Amino acid sequence: MTKILVAGAGGFIGGYLVKELISAGHDVIAVDIKEFSEWYQIDERAESRVQDLSLLEECISATKDVGRVFNLAADMGGMGFIENNKAACMLSVLVNTHLLLACKENGVSRYFFASSACVYNDSKQSSPDNPGLKETDAYPAMPEDGYGWEKLFSERMCRHFYEDFGIETRVARYHNVYGPLGTWDGGREKAPAALSRKVAVAKIDNRNKIQIWGDGQQTRSFTYIDDCIKGTLLLMESDVREPLNVGSDQMVSINEMVDILENIAGVALTRDFDLSAPKGVRGRNSDNTKIKELLGWAPSINLEDGLRKTYGWIHDQIVSSGRVE
Ligand code: NAD
Repeated sequence: MTKILVAGAGGFIGGYLVKELISAGHDVIAVDIKEFSEWYQIDERAESRVQDLSLLEECISATKDVGRVFNLAADMGGMGFIENNKAACMLSVLVNTHLLLACKENGVSRYFFASSACVYNDSKQSSPDNPGLKETDAYPAMPEDGYGWEKLFSERMCRHFYEDFGIETRVARYHNVYGPLGTWDGGREKAPAALSRKVAVAKIDNRNKIQIWGDGQQTRSFTYIDDCIKGTLLLMESDVREPLNVGSDQMVSINEMVDILENIAGVALTRDFDLSAPKGVRGRNSDNTKIKELLGWAPSINLEDGLRKTYGWIHDQIVSSGRVE
């Protein structure tokens, strides 16, 4: 059986993907730039390595005797991170570019790239009542500055490596993936984890107020990690060469997400809206017409169910680490 390389395996989604691939009987090489102590999950059954995949020679050694590559490696985080680290986000282009070149050199036949809903044209996301972003809404191009431009450019790099060199490339546009074992503090966390943390801290510390970034009326959809992994694997095995949304179409406002979390935690909190904080686009949702048509499947895990598991895990992390800010 051919080996599979997971790039960014020390990260949130990569850790789950390695586990799933190993459980399905694959031989997996798991690579990340971070020291092992910082990986979210390490599966002892995988061959785990610390390598910097922004370097071509490291990509060439990592793809040796490999049949498939999942590229989940990127320098990224939630809005607070991507709005303040645009150059760092764009430098992830080195990982995708060098991995594709290495695949060409080593004869890797199939390649997956983790793109993002941040590729979508800004002007289609100016209202909270977003009707759902169709794959075609990425053009004309006006993506999220920095992070989104890198994703859109790298998507096209994948397309041209198929057209010019025959590497079968697959591209998923993930929409806000969340779940247990993700980043929940430190500045890179995204809304579901950040809000779970704030609600849990308020509950544990008997506080009655939390801070919300923006006015809370901005909308998003949130994809539970199990749906993300299932969509990733289905897309990789499919014959779909165009980018596909892998995202929930259950759109909620940030205020509605806080309502769900308050309900889960059994608290009622006053909301302090920080209008100067990074907020991203006004409204975003996934249109799942294409994924249903092409893969016969779409993410379906309910936000409340996913948040219950995520909140429970973050609550336990706070209690066991004693980190009540
Ligand atoms: P993550 O930050 O948890 O994982 C990314 C991993 O890539 C990190 O562990 C990081 O150390 C590693 N990495 C960065 N530079 C590297 C390098 N030079 N060499 C080797 N490893 C390197 O992020 P995630 O949430 O697991 O996301 C995985 C992928 O999915 C990323 O490409 C991300 O942009 C994309 N994505 C994620 C979401 C989401 O909501 N989580 C949404 C859209 C797209």
